[in-house]
Amino acid sequence: MNTQPLIEPGFMFSQHSLNTYVRCPRRFLLQYVDRQPWPVLAEDDRGERQEHLARGRLFHQWLLRKQLGVEIEQIVRATSDAQLRRWWQAAEGFAWDDLPASRQVELPIVVPIGDYRLYARYDLVAWSGTEAVVVDWKTLPQRFSDAVAQSRMQTRVYLYTLAHSGHVVLGSPNPKPEDLSMRYWYAEFPGAPSVVGYSTARYAQDRRYLTELVAQITQQPLEAFVPTDRQQLCEQCAYQSWCRNDRPGRLVSQDDAFAFEEDSDFVDVDSAPELEY
Ligand code: SF4
Repeated sequence: MNTQPLIEPGFMFSQHSLNTYVRCPRRFLLQYVDRQPWPVLAEDDRGERQEHLARGRLFHQWLLRKQLGVEIEQIVRATSDAQLRRWWQAAEGFAWDDLPASRQVELPIVVPIGDYRLYARYDLVAWSGTEAVVVDWKTLPQRFSDAVAQSRMQTRVYLYTLAHSGHVVLGSPNPKPEDLSMRYWYAEFPGAPSVVGYSTARYAQDRRYLTELVAQITQQPLEAFVPTDRQQLCEQCAYQSWCRNDRPGRLVSQDDAFAFEEDSDFVDVDSAPELEY
Protein backbone atom coordinates (compact mmCIF):
# COMPACT_ATOMS: atom_id res chain seq x y z
CA MET A 1 0.00 0.00 0.00
CA ASN A 2 1.30 3.45 -0.94
CA THR A 3 1.61 5.54 2.23
CA GLN A 4 3.40 8.41 0.51
CA PRO A 5 1.58 11.64 1.51
CA LEU A 6 0.10 13.61 -1.35
CA ILE A 7 1.64 16.80 0.04
CA GLU A 8 5.01 16.33 1.69
CA PRO A 9 5.95 18.08 4.96
CA GLY A 10 7.73 21.32 4.17
CA PHE A 11 5.39 22.15 1.29
CA MET A 12 5.19 25.92 0.86
CA PHE A 13 1.70 27.42 1.07
CA SER A 14 0.92 31.00 0.11
CA GLN A 15 -2.08 33.28 0.03
CA HIS A 16 -2.52 32.41 -3.66
CA SER A 17 -2.47 28.65 -3.19
CA LEU A 18 -4.73 28.73 -0.11
CA ASN A 19 -7.11 31.06 -1.88
CA THR A 20 -7.14 28.73 -4.86
CA TYR A 21 -7.94 25.76 -2.62
CA VAL A 22 -10.81 27.55 -0.92
CA ARG A 23 -12.34 28.40 -4.30
CA CYS A 24 -11.62 25.14 -6.08
CA PRO A 25 -9.78 22.17 -4.51
CA ARG A 26 -9.42 20.62 -7.95
CA ARG A 27 -7.59 23.65 -9.29
CA PHE A 28 -5.28 23.64 -6.26
CA LEU A 29 -4.40 20.02 -7.05
CA LEU A 30 -3.73 20.75 -10.72
CA GLN A 31 -1.77 23.92 -10.14
CA TYR A 32 0.20 23.37 -6.95
CA VAL A 33 0.49 19.59 -6.45
CA ASP A 34 0.47 18.14 -9.97
CA ARG A 35 2.20 21.31 -11.25
CA GLN A 36 0.32 21.03 -14.51
CA PRO A 37 1.53 23.65 -16.96
CA TRP A 38 -0.72 26.69 -17.09
CA PRO A 39 -2.97 26.11 -20.11
CA VAL A 40 -3.68 28.79 -22.64
CA LEU A 41 -6.96 30.60 -22.17
CA ALA A 42 -9.65 30.66 -24.81
CA GLU A 43 -8.70 32.86 -27.76
CA ASP A 44 -11.19 35.60 -26.91
CA ASP A 45 -9.90 35.95 -23.31
CA ARG A 46 -6.22 35.84 -24.02
CA GLY A 47 -5.45 39.29 -25.39
CA GLU A 48 -7.29 41.31 -22.76
CA ARG A 49 -6.09 39.26 -19.79
CA GLN A 50 -2.48 39.11 -20.94
CA GLU A 51 -2.48 42.84 -21.64
CA HIS A 52 -3.84 43.61 -18.16
CA LEU A 53 -1.29 41.30 -16.50
CA ALA A 54 1.61 42.78 -18.46
CA ARG A 55 0.54 46.34 -17.62
CA GLY A 56 0.17 45.45 -13.92
CA ARG A 57 3.60 43.81 -13.86
CA LEU A 58 5.20 46.86 -15.45
CA PHE A 59 3.47 49.19 -13.00
CA HIS A 60 4.76 47.15 -10.05
CA GLN A 61 8.28 47.22 -11.54
CA TRP A 62 8.14 50.99 -11.89
CA LEU A 63 7.00 51.37 -8.30
CA LEU A 64 9.77 49.07 -7.12
CA ARG A 65 12.43 51.01 -9.03
CA LYS A 66 11.15 54.32 -7.76
CA GLN A 67 11.35 53.08 -4.18
CA LEU A 68 14.89 51.85 -4.83
CA GLY A 69 15.78 55.38 -5.95
CA VAL A 70 16.11 54.59 -9.66
CA GLU A 71 15.23 57.49 -11.97
CA ILE A 72 12.43 56.30 -14.25
CA GLU A 73 10.59 59.49 -15.20
CA GLN A 74 12.04 59.33 -18.69
CA ILE A 75 10.68 55.79 -19.15
CA VAL A 76 7.25 56.88 -17.91
CA ARG A 77 7.20 59.86 -20.27
CA ALA A 78 8.17 57.62 -23.18
CA THR A 79 5.30 55.16 -22.75
CA SER A 80 2.40 55.39 -25.16
CA ASP A 81 0.14 53.40 -22.79
CA ALA A 82 -2.37 55.97 -21.53
CA GLN A 83 -3.69 53.74 -18.74
CA LEU A 84 -0.22 53.07 -17.42
CA ARG A 85 0.57 56.81 -17.46
CA ARG A 86 -2.70 57.51 -15.62
CA TRP A 87 -1.85 54.92 -12.95
CA TRP A 88 1.58 56.46 -12.56
CA GLN A 89 0.16 59.94 -12.13
CA ALA A 90 -2.13 58.51 -9.45
CA ALA A 91 0.83 56.85 -7.71
CA GLU A 92 2.73 60.16 -7.69
CA GLY A 93 0.06 61.40 -5.28
CA PHE A 94 0.51 58.48 -2.86
CA ALA A 95 0.84 59.74 0.72
CA TRP A 96 4.37 58.52 1.39
CA ASP A 97 4.71 60.85 4.38
CA ASP A 98 1.94 58.94 6.15
CA LEU A 99 4.11 55.82 6.29
CA PRO A 100 6.74 54.98 8.92
CA ALA A 101 10.26 55.85 7.78
CA SER A 102 11.95 52.40 7.59
CA ARG A 103 10.90 50.62 4.41
CA GLN A 104 11.55 47.39 2.56
CA VAL A 105 10.16 46.59 -0.89
CA GLU A 106 9.40 43.16 -2.35
CA LEU A 107 10.04 41.55 1.02
CA PRO A 108 9.63 37.74 1.02
CA ILE A 109 9.03 35.94 4.34
CA VAL A 110 8.54 32.25 5.13
CA VAL A 111 7.20 31.08 8.51
CA PRO A 112 6.42 27.57 9.75
CA ILE A 113 2.82 26.37 9.94
CA GLY A 114 2.75 22.93 11.57
CA ASP A 115 4.96 20.67 9.46
CA TYR A 116 4.52 23.00 6.50
CA ARG A 117 5.56 26.52 5.52
CA LEU A 118 3.69 29.71 4.80
CA TYR A 119 5.08 32.24 2.34
CA ALA A 120 4.24 35.92 1.90
CA ARG A 121 5.84 38.45 -0.40
CA TYR A 122 5.08 42.07 0.40
CA ASP A 123 5.06 44.90 -2.14
CA LEU A 124 6.14 47.22 0.67
CA VAL A 125 6.50 47.05 4.45
CA ALA A 126 7.08 50.34 6.30
CA TRP A 127 7.83 50.34 10.01
CA SER A 128 9.04 52.33 12.97
CA GLY A 129 9.61 51.29 16.57
CA THR A 130 5.88 51.41 17.23
CA GLU A 131 4.04 50.35 14.07
CA ALA A 132 4.32 48.46 10.78
CA VAL A 133 2.23 49.06 7.66
CA VAL A 134 1.95 46.59 4.78
CA VAL A 135 1.18 48.31 1.45
CA ASP A 136 -0.17 46.33 -1.49
CA TRP A 137 -0.54 47.99 -4.90
CA LYS A 138 -3.67 46.98 -6.80
CA THR A 139 -4.49 47.68 -10.44
CA LEU A 140 -7.91 46.03 -10.37
CA PRO A 141 -10.92 47.73 -11.93
CA GLN A 142 -12.81 47.60 -8.60
CA ARG A 143 -11.81 48.32 -5.01
CA PHE A 144 -12.61 45.89 -2.19
CA SER A 145 -15.38 46.69 0.24
CA ASP A 146 -14.08 47.12 3.79
CA ALA A 147 -15.52 43.71 4.74
CA VAL A 148 -13.82 41.97 1.82
CA ALA A 149 -10.52 43.76 2.42
CA GLN A 150 -10.55 42.55 6.00
CA SER A 151 -11.55 38.95 5.34
CA ARG A 152 -9.65 38.11 2.17
CA MET A 153 -6.97 35.46 2.29
CA GLN A 154 -4.19 37.84 1.32
CA THR A 155 -4.92 40.11 4.29
CA ARG A 156 -5.06 37.18 6.71
CA VAL A 157 -1.84 35.56 5.45
CA TYR A 158 0.11 38.82 5.18
CA LEU A 159 -0.78 40.16 8.61
CA TYR A 160 -0.49 36.77 10.32
CA THR A 161 2.95 36.14 8.76
CA LEU A 162 4.23 39.58 9.70
CA ALA A 163 2.89 39.29 13.25
CA HIS A 164 4.49 35.84 13.53
CA SER A 165 7.87 37.04 12.33
CA GLY A 166 7.74 40.68 13.41
CA HIS A 167 10.40 40.49 16.08
CA VAL A 168 12.89 39.21 13.47
CA VAL A 169 11.82 41.24 10.44
CA LEU A 170 11.18 44.56 12.13
CA GLY A 171 13.90 44.27 14.75
CA SER A 172 11.44 45.30 17.40
CA PRO A 173 11.51 43.11 20.52
CA ASN A 174 7.79 42.52 20.95
CA PRO A 175 5.66 43.89 18.13
CA LYS A 176 1.99 43.43 18.95
CA PRO A 177 -0.65 42.56 16.32
CA GLU A 178 -2.29 45.86 17.27
CA ASP A 179 0.81 47.64 15.89
CA LEU A 180 0.26 46.16 12.39
CA SER A 181 -2.03 47.24 9.57
CA MET A 182 -2.46 46.62 5.87
CA ARG A 183 -3.21 49.21 3.22
CA TYR A 184 -4.53 48.30 -0.25
CA TRP A 185 -3.83 51.18 -2.61
CA TYR A 186 -5.79 51.17 -5.88
CA ALA A 187 -4.40 52.75 -9.03
CA GLU A 188 -7.97 53.23 -10.25
CA PHE A 189 -9.15 54.71 -6.92
CA PRO A 190 -6.09 56.45 -5.49
CA GLY A 191 -8.05 58.53 -3.03
CA ALA A 192 -9.86 55.56 -1.46
CA PRO A 193 -7.38 53.01 -0.10
CA SER A 194 -8.62 50.15 2.07
CA VAL A 195 -7.00 50.13 5.50
CA VAL A 196 -7.24 47.04 7.70
CA GLY A 197 -6.08 47.01 11.31
CA TYR A 198 -5.03 43.95 13.28
CA SER A 199 -5.48 42.67 16.82
CA THR A 200 -4.38 39.92 19.15
CA ALA A 201 -7.81 38.29 18.79
CA ARG A 202 -7.64 38.33 14.99
CA TYR A 203 -4.10 37.00 15.06
CA ALA A 204 -5.32 34.06 17.17
CA GLN A 205 -8.26 33.49 14.80
CA ASP A 206 -5.95 33.57 11.77
CA ARG A 207 -3.50 31.18 13.38
CA ARG A 208 -6.31 28.71 14.06
CA TYR A 209 -7.92 29.17 10.64
CA LEU A 210 -4.69 28.83 8.65
CA THR A 211 -3.42 25.89 10.70
CA GLU A 212 -6.71 24.04 10.31
CA LEU A 213 -6.90 24.83 6.59
CA VAL A 214 -3.39 23.51 5.98
CA ALA A 215 -4.18 20.40 8.05
CA GLN A 216 -7.33 19.79 6.02
CA ILE A 217 -5.52 20.16 2.69
CA THR A 218 -2.60 17.96 3.66
CA GLN A 219 -4.52 15.20 5.41
CA GLN A 220 -7.32 14.57 2.96
CA PRO A 221 -7.27 11.91 0.23
CA LEU A 222 -6.92 12.62 -3.48
CA GLU A 223 -10.68 12.17 -4.06
CA ALA A 224 -11.42 15.16 -1.79
CA PHE A 225 -9.89 17.62 -4.27
CA VAL A 226 -13.20 18.11 -6.00
CA PRO A 227 -14.08 20.65 -8.71
CA THR A 228 -15.91 23.79 -7.60
CA ASP A 229 -19.62 24.10 -8.28
CA ARG A 230 -19.27 27.83 -9.02
CA GLN A 231 -19.55 27.84 -12.76
CA GLN A 232 -18.50 31.49 -12.97
CA LEU A 233 -15.13 30.61 -11.49
CA CYS A 234 -14.71 27.95 -14.16
CA GLU A 235 -15.43 30.51 -16.85
CA GLN A 236 -12.38 32.53 -15.72
CA CYS A 237 -10.17 29.47 -15.20
CA ALA A 238 -7.42 28.47 -17.61
CA TYR A 239 -7.76 24.82 -16.50
CA GLN A 240 -11.14 24.44 -18.19
CA SER A 241 -9.61 22.18 -20.78
CA TRP A 242 -8.49 19.82 -17.98
CA CYS A 243 -11.79 19.52 -16.18
CA ARG A 244 -14.83 20.88 -17.89
CA ASN A 245 -17.90 20.66 -15.75
CA ASP A 246 -21.38 21.60 -16.82
CA ARG A 247 -23.04 22.15 -13.50
CA PRO A 248 -25.37 25.11 -13.12
CA GLY A 249 -23.83 28.41 -12.06
CA ARG A 250 -23.93 30.13 -8.71
CA LEU A 251 -23.39 33.80 -7.99
CA VAL A 252 -19.89 34.59 -6.86
CA SER A 253 -18.92 36.93 -4.04
CA GLN A 254 -17.14 40.24 -4.56
CA ASP A 255 -13.81 38.67 -3.64
CA ASP A 256 -14.42 35.87 -6.14
CA ALA A 257 -14.45 38.52 -8.84
CA PHE A 258 -10.72 38.92 -8.12
CA ALA A 259 -10.10 35.18 -7.81
CA PHE A 260 -7.72 35.01 -10.71
CA GLU A 261 -5.33 37.82 -10.10
CA GLU A 262 -1.90 36.96 -11.35
CA ASP A 263 -0.28 34.31 -9.22
CA SER A 264 3.25 35.58 -8.77
CA ASP A 265 4.00 33.14 -5.95
CA PHE A 266 7.35 31.49 -5.91
CA VAL A 267 8.84 33.85 -8.48
CA ASP A 268 11.69 34.61 -6.13
CA VAL A 269 11.02 32.12 -3.39
CA ASP A 270 14.66 31.01 -3.38
CA SER A 271 15.56 34.35 -1.87
CA ALA A 272 12.92 34.16 0.88
CA PRO A 273 14.59 34.01 4.28
CA GLU A 274 13.60 31.06 6.44
CA LEU A 275 13.19 32.53 9.88
CA GLU A 276 14.37 30.81 13.02
CA TYR A 277 12.09 30.79 16.07
S1 SF4 B 1 -12.31 24.66 -14.58
FE1 SF4 B 1 -13.53 24.99 -12.71
S2 SF4 B 1 -13.49 23.00 -11.65
FE2 SF4 B 1 -11.83 22.98 -13.15
S3 SF4 B 1 -10.02 23.67 -12.04
FE3 SF4 B 1 -10.92 25.47 -13.02
S4 SF4 B 1 -12.28 26.37 -11.43
FE4 SF4 B 1 -11.83 24.25 -10.84
